[in-house]
Amino acid sequence: MHDWIVVGAGFAGAVMAERIASQRGETVLVVDKRDHIAGNAHDRRNADGVLFHQYGPHIFHTNSSMISDYLSQFTEWRPYEHRVLASVDGQLVPIPINRTTINKLYGLDLDEAGVEAFLAARAEPVETIRTSEDVVVGKVGRELYEKFFRGYTQKQWGLDPSELDRSVTARVPTRTNDDDRYFTDSFQQMPRDGYTAMFERMLANPLITVQLGVDALAMPAADRPRRMVFTGPIDAYYGHVYGALPYRSLQFHHVTLDEAWTQQVGTINFPQDQDYTRVTEVKHLTGQNHPCTTLTYEYPSAEGDPYYPIPRPENEALFKRYEALARAEENTWFVGRLATYRYYNMDQVVGQALATFQRLDAAVPRTGRQ
Ligand code: FAD
Ligand code: UDP
Repeated sequence: MHDWIVVGAGFAGAVMAERIASQRGETVLVVDKRDHIAGNAHDRRNADGVLFHQYGPHIFHTNSSMISDYLSQFTEWRPYEHRVLASVDGQLVPIPINRTTINKLYGLDLDEAGVEAFLAARAEPVETIRTSEDVVVGKVGRELYEKFFRGYTQKQWGLDPSELDRSVTARVPTRTNDDDRYFTDSFQQMPRDGYTAMFERMLANPLITVQLGVDALAMPAADRPRRMVFTGPIDAYYGHVYGALPYRSLQFHHVTLDEAWTQQVGTINFPQDQDYTRVTEVKHLTGQNHPCTTLTYEYPSAEGDPYYPIPRPENEALFKRYEALARAEENTWFVGRLATYRYYNMDQVVGQALATFQRLDAAVPRTGRQ
């Protein structure tokens, strides 16, 4: 029997397994119910040889050198700054909204101060910024909110922005300068050989065994190591005793075209029309040289794999009830986007896993094998 079982081979599970094996010298069984490692960051070559992201575009960015240094043990990097255009009123304009967006959309030639004044004149005073609607109308006013955010958010979440916590649309800043990068983090690089290759190196420790196509919750408890790290949905771990926690899903349609490039930038967002939210041409992200190109269309849906926790007060309250059960566990540690019901980016999951490992390592006596 292994010392530990880690449920899930995504960022949360792979970091935990790697740390337990390399720092504590203990054996780890990693199981994932999917037939591959790397969780939602999984990438692979399709039948035409194009490296693509099976679960949608994954762009790595962080402000933490601790996190990029940690991952750098397992990969080389390739610089990549993501850019996104939104299809609005028949034009392609930068999102986050910036000076170019305003000038193009309104046929103006404002400087930075002019854009600031333009937005200030339209912003609606909001006393307490509580919802995802408040965040945007408080900064850019209702018209731009309707053009860029309302429809996209309704599609993505099946909810009006007024029903979602402010943290959701607050992910997207507003700018008055010409910076058209989607992220401004100090470290913006993609794993040079892809995410799956990086995960292979994280899991290469001989103390780690990986079993794919295994649902940990269907394993008889007697067959499972007593010590567990769980990175799946926390409500599933507890058999949904308090009811299902809502997670939003997506269907991905990957289309390969017999041409080298089709989009000017990595992603085009569709806030006003189409059933999909965005289309990504993954070669921008990976830097692969290939005569074909693959596009990924994201269609939001209520059914399917859980991808996004849905940040709103009643869901947080339900999560807290599950979290109370989790806190009482002596031998199970919950980590990651699904198990801690947090809308975390990859770097935040790595940071959370590294911090959880520190707590685990302080709390659990080592087997003494090392
Ligand atoms: P996951 O990657 O979901 O891994 C959990 C794993 O557990 C899964 O593989 C699952 O199969 C397995 N599992 C669950 N239950 C069981 C069970 N009972 N038994 C066995 N295995 C089980 N982040 C960024 O930083 N940049 C981006 O550009 C970005 N883009 C994204 C785009 C999309 C469409 C999505 C959905 C997410 C994106 N993210 C991005 C977020 C990123 O995917 C997550 O932060 C990260 O993958 C979470 O890692 P995790 O290990 O917590 O979860
Ligand atoms: N959003 C929007 N219009 C856009 C881009 C984003 O309304 O063109 C809102 C939407 O609610 C989305 C959220 O901002 O879910 C966060 O956007 P982000 O690009 O960070 O989403 P993710 O990449 O996590 O799906």
